[in-house]
Amino acid sequence: MSDKKHLMVIDAHCGDGELQVGAIAAKYAKAGHKVTFLHLTAGEKGNPPHLSVEEYREQKIRESEEACAILGAECITLDYKDAELRLTEEIVTHLATLLRKYRPNLVLTHWINSIHSDHATVPKIVEAAQLKTGLSGFDLGGLKPHYYGYLHSENWEDMEGYVPDIFVDVTETFDLYLEAISKFWFVMNSKDFRYFDYYKALGTVRGCQNRTRYAQTLKFPVGGNIRKGTEIPGFPL
Ligand SMILES: [Zn+2]
Repeated sequence: MSDKKHLMVIDAHCGDGELQVGAIAAKYAKAGHKVTFLHLTAGEKGNPPHLSVEEYREQKIRESEEACAILGAECITLDYKDAELRLTEEIVTHLATLLRKYRPNLVLTHWINSIHSDHATVPKIVEAAQLKTGLSGFDLGGLKPHYYGYLHSENWEDMEGYVPDIFVDVTETFDLYLEAISKFWFVMNSKDFRYFDYYKALGTVRGCQNRTRYAQTLKFPVGGNIRKGTEIPGFPL
């Protein structure tokens, strides 16, 4: 049996996941794992003055596909509407059906607190879909039940209460990551936030803390509270 697994990044908008864990994704893709980015919306309402919402939607999907190709990942964008994501049974069922189809071993998604309601809603959808995907009591068109774990990722809009648990050394894929995120118009041109500067600096700061050149971080879900092993660390029995 192959030890290669499927890592899936589920985010609110094209570009969110690429910014948050793009270098991690590239690292695992390089190691031979399958990596998929699943965007629930394109994030089309941050459209610049020269583009309509629909034109910007198409552009963002294209940018995401280019970025994911550089990272070695697949890219899927669903057609939910930007800034209108809600925790509904309909979206949970849709996601659970997709997850039974794609069968990722691990999902990376937004942290639970955010200034953007779409971001805060996505981990709730992922959490609810975990049960609907895994429990055989749910019949989703005859698809076999599937269990996945999930971790949260680090985003500038989602920092309230975010304290990283896992630091991934991404020194070897960080240049590729910077090339990938530079495909997004908003990353390079937004007047609201200096995305490129922030994420380059964040990878550097997390790298300092990790004693590696660059790092990106992840966080365990709340509720599980099982994190660090089976013994008191540093007291061998
Ligand atoms: Zn977003």
